[in-house]
Amino acid sequence: MSNNIYVTQPALPPLDEFTPYLKQIWENKILTNGGPFHQQLEQALCEYLAVDHLALVTNATIGLVTALQALRISGEVITTPYSFVATAHSLLWNGITPVFVDIDPKTLNLDPAKIEAAITPRTTAILAVHCYGHPCDVKAIHDIADRFNLRVIYDAAHAFGVSNAQGSVLRHGDLSVLSFHATKVFNTFEGGAIICPDAKTKTHIDRLKNFGFTDEVTVVAPGINGKMSEINSAFGLLQLKYVDRALARRSEIDRVYRDQLAGVPGIHCLEPASSKPEGYNSNCSYFPVLVSAEYGASRDALYQKLRDNNVFSRRYFYPLISDFPMYRGLPSASRANLPVAAHAADRVLCLPIYPALAAADQQRVIDLVRGD
Ligand SMILES: *Cc1c(COP(=O)(O)O)cnc(C)c1O
Repeated sequence: MSNNIYVTQPALPPLDEFTPYLKQIWENKILTNGGPFHQQLEQALCEYLAVDHLALVTNATIGLVTALQALRISGEVITTPYSFVATAHSLLWNGITPVFVDIDPKTLNLDPAKIEAAITPRTTAILAVHCYGHPCDVKAIHDIADRFNLRVIYDAAHAFGVSNAQGSVLRHGDLSVLSFHATKVFNTFEGGAIICPDAKTKTHIDRLKNFGFTDEVTVVAPGINGKMSEINSAFGLLQLKYVDRALARRSEIDRVYRDQLAGVPGIHCLEPASSKPEGYNSNCSYFPVLVSAEYGASRDALYQKLRDNNVFSRRYFYPLISDFPMYRGLPSASRANLPVAAHAADRVLCLPIYPALAAADQQRVIDLVRGD
C-alpha cells in the first residue's frame, strides 16, 4: 500500500542545529518572561516581516483574545463564518457578540459590500481573516471602518510573509495576529505574534500577555498568561533560517498543481486575489480547490476517494463557524444570510502542500484528482 500523504507536514530544521540553543538556555537558566531568545526573535521577525513592532505570544488564539482586549472591543464585531473556529471563539472569550457577514465568492474573504448592512449602534470593530493567506480587500474594509468609526483587527494566522510592492499585508488594520502553530507556514511548535503599529501599543500588549503587570507590585488589567517561552523563541530563530527555502518549495508545488489541474472540468484552483497587485508575494500556505457539479463527483466523494488512496486532504473550512452549536442561534448565523460561505464550505478541498512533499507524491494526488 502507498504511503500516507497528509494535507500538511510541519517543517523542521536539522535536529543537531537546535542543540546549541538548548545549551544556551540551560546555561542562562532563563526559560520565559521575555528572555534573550524571545527578544531576539521579536527583533528578527520585525526585520523579516518588515514591520516595526511585534509582540510574541503563546499562540494566535491567545493573540486574538489579547488584541481585542488591548483595543477594548465590546458589543458586536463583524466577522467571517469562513475561517478556523478560533477567530470567533476569541470574540466569545471577550464577551463580544459575533455578527457573521458573507464572503466574496472569488477570494472567500469577508465581502466588504455586505458589511455596512450588518452595522448597528453596538458595532465596534471588524475582525477579518486573510483566508489561506490571500489578502482581504483592505482598502474597502478600511473605508467602511473610517466612515463608521470601527476598529479593524486581522486574523493573519495564514498570512506569514505575504506582501506586495507597498509592503507586508500585516501593516493593515489596528492590529494583526499571526499563528506559528505546527501546521502553519512558519512554526515554533505553538506560537504567534501580534503586529503593533507603535511602541506604546506593544508595551500595552506586553503587559496584557503577562497578567497585566506593569512592575513587581502593579497590575493594571486582567491580563492573561500569553508569553512565548525561550524554547519556542529559540526554535523560531532557527526556523527563520530555513523559511525562505520552505516558501520557495511551496511556490513550486503550487505552480505544479495549477499547471496540472488547469482544464480539469469542475476543479477550480482558488486565486490569491481577484486582481494581482504589483509585486505580490504569496506564501502558498494552502492549496484550496472548489469542486463543482461539472466534476462529475461531489466534493465529499473526491475527499473519500483520496482517503481510500491514503491521501488525507482537508475540507477547510467546513463546517462554517456559524454552524457550530455556540454560534448557530445567532440571527446572523442563518444560512440565508451566508449563501456564498455555505456554498464554498460544501465545495472546498485543501490539497496537500508542504515543503517536504515529494514530486512523486504530489503526482499521485494530481492523478487521483484528474481521475487518470
Ligand atoms: C490556526 C488558526 C488560528 C489559531 O491559531 P493558534 O496559533 O493555533 O491558536 C486562528 N485563526 C485561523 C484562521 C487559523 O487558521
